[in-house]
Amino acid sequence: MVELNWRNGCFEPARRAGVNDLIEIGNCSHSLPRPTLHPDPSILGLKMSGAHANSLENAHSGKFPTPPAFATKLEEREFLKFRLAQALRMFGNHGFDEGPAGHITVRDPILPRVLLDHQGQILDESGQKDGPFRILNMAAFMIHSAIHAARPDVICAAHSHSTYGKAFSSLGKMLDPISQDSCSFYEDHVVYTQFNGIVLEEAEGLAIAKALGNKKAAILQNHGLLVVGSTIESTIRSYISLERACQVQLLAEATGTPLKINHAQAKETAKIIGNQRAGWFSGTMEFMVLEREEGVKFHASE
Ligand SMILES: [Zn+2]
Repeated sequence: MVELNWRNGCFEPARRAGVNDLIEIGNCSHSLPRPTLHPDPSILGLKMSGAHANSLENAHSGKFPTPPAFATKLEEREFLKFRLAQALRMFGNHGFDEGPAGHITVRDPILPRVLLDHQGQILDESGQKDGPFRILNMAAFMIHSAIHAARPDVICAAHSHSTYGKAFSSLGKMLDPISQDSCSFYEDHVVYTQFNGIVLEEAEGLAIAKALGNKKAAILQNHGLLVVGSTIESTIRSYISLERACQVQLLAEATGTPLKINHAQAKETAKIIGNQRAGWFSGTMEFMVLEREEGVKFHASE
């Protein structure tokens, strides 16, 4: 696992040192430099793999699109890194950052391992410590590594201290199904009621992962929000949706007693809008907006 540095629109991952990692962590921030925009049509020009093109074709023909498949694992890794960088900028755009707090991790599709020693020192591929100096966000590592280890189905995990999630977390209670959108989290989130300071101990990360169980979201009391998903798109969409659900419940409860959707309807709605495929589809739209704004799309290297 390595800390990623955002510079001139490109992460400088461990690839430079020949390291392949299970998890890559980045922090979202408004201050992150933006990528250089490329008006070159070869970059804007949808130079996607066949699978990407198929997804778009399906959308146009009325079929429900599916996540892309990749010709090689290297191409998949390249895409995930690109998507991760986009996701971090998206968090920054939404104002989800709080200084260095706010991190997103993605499971590497090739090597299921973390190149750290037991002291949290980042190692190069040969296991040596003398690679380029990198800073590990220890709190991020403790939370995310425990979750990725416990949940093989989790490809992406995102945590931040966004305003409404943080405010709602101080109430120490679950979200209620008071809107169609909040039903997405009905019976699919938990409240982690302990606050033991900044997560610097392995036991705390393990406790959070245990509390999360098989759910897709956790409200970390007096702390913030945590979501997981089987794709980057579904994870980011879940985070945005959870933050808004917290905002809506805070607003509604500030003015009265919101009416709850009944159990059967909430459960049925959750089944439709709360699943990972719907999350991927919905999240893809968020990324399409970003791509239109930035004029940059994924471009697989030759
Ligand atoms: Zn945190």
